[in-house]
Amino acid sequence: MSIDLKKLTITEAHTRLAQKDWSALELTDAYLSVIEERDPAIHSYLEVFDDARENARRADALIREKGKDIHPLTGIPFSIKDNILIKGHVASCGSKILEKYRAAYDATAVVRLRDEGAVFLGRGNMDEFAMGSSTERSAFGTTKNPHDISRAPGGSSGGPAAAVAMGGALAALGSDTGGSVRQPASFCGIVGLKPTYGSVSRFGLVAMASSLDQIGPFAKTAADARIIFEAISGHDPMDSTSLPNRSGQKAERSEKLTIGIPSFMDEVKVDDDVLKNFEESIAILKKMGHTITTVVLPNVQYSLPVYYIIMPAEASTNLARFDGVRYGLHKEGENLFEDYTKTRGAGFGAEVRRRILLGTYVLSAGYYDAYYTQATMLRRQITADFENVFTDVDAILTPTSPTPAFALGERTDDPLRMYSSDVFTVPANIGGLPALSIPSGFVKRGTASLPVGLQFTGAHLDDSLLLDIGEAFERETEYSFIV
Ligand code: GLN
Repeated sequence: MSIDLKKLTITEAHTRLAQKDWSALELTDAYLSVIEERDPAIHSYLEVFDDARENARRADALIREKGKDIHPLTGIPFSIKDNILIKGHVASCGSKILEKYRAAYDATAVVRLRDEGAVFLGRGNMDEFAMGSSTERSAFGTTKNPHDISRAPGGSSGGPAAAVAMGGALAALGSDTGGSVRQPASFCGIVGLKPTYGSVSRFGLVAMASSLDQIGPFAKTAADARIIFEAISGHDPMDSTSLPNRSGQKAERSEKLTIGIPSFMDEVKVDDDVLKNFEESIAILKKMGHTITTVVLPNVQYSLPVYYIIMPAEASTNLARFDGVRYGLHKEGENLFEDYTKTRGAGFGAEVRRRILLGTYVLSAGYYDAYYTQATMLRRQITADFENVFTDVDAILTPTSPTPAFALGERTDDPLRMYSSDVFTVPANIGGLPALSIPSGFVKRGTASLPVGLQFTGAHLDDSLLLDIGEAFERETEYSFIV
């Protein structure tokens, strides 16, 4: 039986599974054959699990038991970013230092998907320890963009995003510290959500910068992203930053919203055709009845510098645990200190070492106040600016990234240019706010048609409102996301 995966959504697959038109095993097999056919060129997976079909059989048992009452994720095949723990499987974080590390337990998000009968197809490629915007920093080879294999899929969750875009998974989990779900979603033409900080448990997500990290879903539609978000969110006692379960949603808002465009967009260099696409999206939103206005976030232009102090500071302390004793790689030295230096020298790649150096520097006794304290003060200011603006508008709109997918190799020697692709995504992490990227059309580069994305940032806990706007926008536009 052949299943057409091109336009398949979770919603549609759920109907077919519940009606027993397809079995979960047949659906999983369909994805496994796409992976076999296409992934040698794309390299979105670091490993395809040998127990994927066993997962599918378990889903089929659930379907037999529950019939039409199965959860919408029962039997749905996922790619899981390689920094999210799945018990018994390797979780390498795209790093040599964890190449052979096997997870001793499941991440909470994984438990919640597993409980609903989701199928885990394999580990999605990523920039080493989620540091990067192109997946070129993976220690195990670059992932290619399925829309044009000479280009980057974005990063750091480029593997899971490319898997969904090429039809090698129906959905995926990534992690977003400064844009790593939204930017690859936009480069690959799919939907990516960075939830409100604390709404999805970080238990079992290998920490990069703990105050910024969130697990987020990739899917083809906002409706599908919502199904995943609802399944994985909710309080978790294992994560001390996990928010309490929501006591009722915020009051229903009218369907006609006020959407703000930050004035700082004028200071950012955005490609002409990306800007044109953005203006077309604004026109669509106006036609839908929304009011568009300009908002001033007086400190948001400092978001990237603030991010590149706080993130390396937290990463340098988080990564101290990889010492050659407790996890993964071990290189023997003459003494304990040499064990550390040899293991870390051999195990960490250049970008990770750069950030450990940066982070250690900004936390060092002489510089702590000048850098780290200043950055945390500005962070509070940026967060307060957002709170202010959200008393006037329901959501903030920007392109997800100033450019479409860039060419592989184009930015690897120029870290600042690489960092600049996150200029629009980083502010939401600084403020702990939800932000959604959805496809908004295509731009041409040579003969290639490359997707671009639109980002809606919302007030604290307004994840669901963003998904509402996303769904309505999709109804107006119907972009074809799949290659
Ligand atoms: N690209 C950003 C960085 O390199 C964000 C990464 C992320 O969100 N994990 O840090």
